[in-house]
Amino acid sequence: MAVRMDQLSWKEFAERSHQPVILPIGSTEQHGQHLPMGVDTILAECIATDLAERIDGTLMPTLSYGYKSRPQSGGGPLFPGTIDLNGSTVIAQVRDVLRELIDDGFRNILVLNAHFENEAFILEAIDLVNRETGGVATVVETNWWDPLTPHDMEAIFDGLPFPGWALEHAAVTETSLMLHYAPELVHLDRVPTDTGTSFAPAPYVRYPVRPGDVPAHGGLASPAGASAERGQLIVEACMRAVVSICEQEFVGRQPEHPALEPQVIEELKTIGTAS
Ligand code: ZN
Ligand code: MN
Repeated sequence: MAVRMDQLSWKEFAERSHQPVILPIGSTEQHGQHLPMGVDTILAECIATDLAERIDGTLMPTLSYGYKSRPQSGGGPLFPGTIDLNGSTVIAQVRDVLRELIDDGFRNILVLNAHFENEAFILEAIDLVNRETGGVATVVETNWWDPLTPHDMEAIFDGLPFPGWALEHAAVTETSLMLHYAPELVHLDRVPTDTGTSFAPAPYVRYPVRPGDVPAHGGLASPAGASAERGQLIVEACMRAVVSICEQEFVGRQPEHPALEPQVIEELKTIGTAS
């Protein structure tokens, strides 16, 4: 069972300050006809929960609104229910939460993002907090899709077309992850038959966003072929990678050998004990 901050007393929370703390960040935005608007938030929280178990981290409440959905990566602002925050709001919210965690004594913080458009604002918040706290805490930020290797991608897509992460909105990966974590919220029968990979975004950005800029159903690429099995592959690959990142950045924090790969450190240990 993952340890959830919102279920701890303040004292129990404080006693875990030597453990990593995980802040999941999602969004509330349309995800086509077959997925709910909480996809990014649900996935951020589910993946962060799995991670919290693996690294004995403390799971913070998920930030459920994100930066503005863009037509070429989330469908844009014209869909009812897409709740867009200004960039300054995202920065302020993330900055305040991180600052509180650091002031409470936490030194190892993982920010797990699941909404494409958030990243620049999250990094800005982390940078500002890092400057104002003199770098006392290690803050690692990753999107769930960042650490997937080409090998992982081959196994996950296995012949299906990959349109790029910007267009992977309500498509194969998010639908597969939802089938893995919350199949009762997925309605594959509602996928429009004209959902192809034919949506080709313009090579420029134009404001204002107008109806017709994106497919009316809200999907940017086809979810055809999505499955719980693919979802599980994504989760496993993500866990492997992020657990190893945390071991390298948090647990080890080997200042004497910062450039060494964990593998090399293991080998060095073996040499030491073999004699
Ligand atoms: Zn999404
Ligand atoms: Mn999103």
